[in-house]
Amino acid sequence: MSEVLVVIDHAEGEVKKPTYELLTIARRLGEPSAVFFGPPDQGDAVAEKVRKYGAAKVYVVDDAQIKGFLVAPKAEALQQLAEKTSPAAVLLPSTFENKEVAGRLAIKLGSGLITDAVDVADGGVTTQSVFAGNYTVQAKVTTGTPIITVKPNSAAPEESEGAGAVEAFAATISDAAKTAQIVATQPRQSTGRPELTEAAIVVSGGRGTGGDFAPVEGFADSLGAAVGASRAAVDSGWMPHAFQVGQTGKTVSPQLYVANGISGAIQHRAGMQTSKTIVAVNKDPEAPIFELVDFGVVGDLHAVLPAATEKVKER
Ligand code: FAD
Repeated sequence: MSEVLVVIDHAEGEVKKPTYELLTIARRLGEPSAVFFGPPDQGDAVAEKVRKYGAAKVYVVDDAQIKGFLVAPKAEALQQLAEKTSPAAVLLPSTFENKEVAGRLAIKLGSGLITDAVDVADGGVTTQSVFAGNYTVQAKVTTGTPIITVKPNSAAPEESEGAGAVEAFAATISDAAKTAQIVATQPRQSTGRPELTEAAIVVSGGRGTGGDFAPVEGFADSLGAAVGASRAAVDSGWMPHAFQVGQTGKTVSPQLYVANGISGAIQHRAGMQTSKTIVAVNKDPEAPIFELVDFGVVGDLHAVLPAATEKVKER
């Protein structure tokens, strides 16, 4: 069975959930091999985690020559690994960085590229939502090694024992790949909530909050969810732009999306309509968001959300 390379998404060796989702998807295409960019002394601990989701091998790529630079060295290392292993596909979590890595890798390998897939079925047929969510497209790479970036929450991680054999991979990074150096990085202030694009549950608020996000945040916290916002809420200065969901904000695809006081404009839908289950709270029964939802509550969010929060806390 051919290998499928899965690039591990991690922060200081802490493996993030999208990696397990990708390993689950990779098993539909071949035998997953995880690729860890990081310090070699973290390799064994990472291998122990990804092995439980079916990783037969774990390639440890020492990131000493890679982490201080923007994406080019990573693409070069992956090219060398792909040339050595001839994988059936290369899967990466859909982050801004990985999408650029994937683009460069596709050019280097002369391969087709699909970004932002929300599903990858047997045979490598992907599903994507395109043109601000107006079309759902099924696509397949027909040239070279399929390079596919997959959005978080595209699959439920399923455990499966893999050998997790650690193999050091020594990539040769050219000077040409080291032309853009990272000078400083500033860690984002933690909200204590999950990252918006990775969260399994997102609770969002719009203009209907009237600027009072407390009920939205309270409900989000009761569910362990991330908080999102419509552009109207962001433009009003109620929430920072980092919270905006939509065409000009972030794209989310959680298991559950709860839209509160949001009308459901096409530009907002573009960022959330691939969510698995959608719930809306809106006082207008004619609000367009109700065309999209699995469950809808017609009511004032300032009454509905505190009551719902109480119910969740009682559980
Ligand atoms: P509104 O459309 O004003 O809706 C508010 C809703 O709240 C109404 O349905 C109302 O019935 C309901 N409501 C009011 N009070 C309550 C209450 N007490 N309880 C319950 N419900 C209540 N928008 C985005 O969100 N994200 C984007 O990325 C984005 N990008 C854009 C890009 C472009 C180029 C353009 C032109 C627009 C973009 N927009 C985007 C804006 C988008 O068109 C809408 O204007 C915006 O989404 C509206 O936000 P809203 O639903 O919060 O506000």
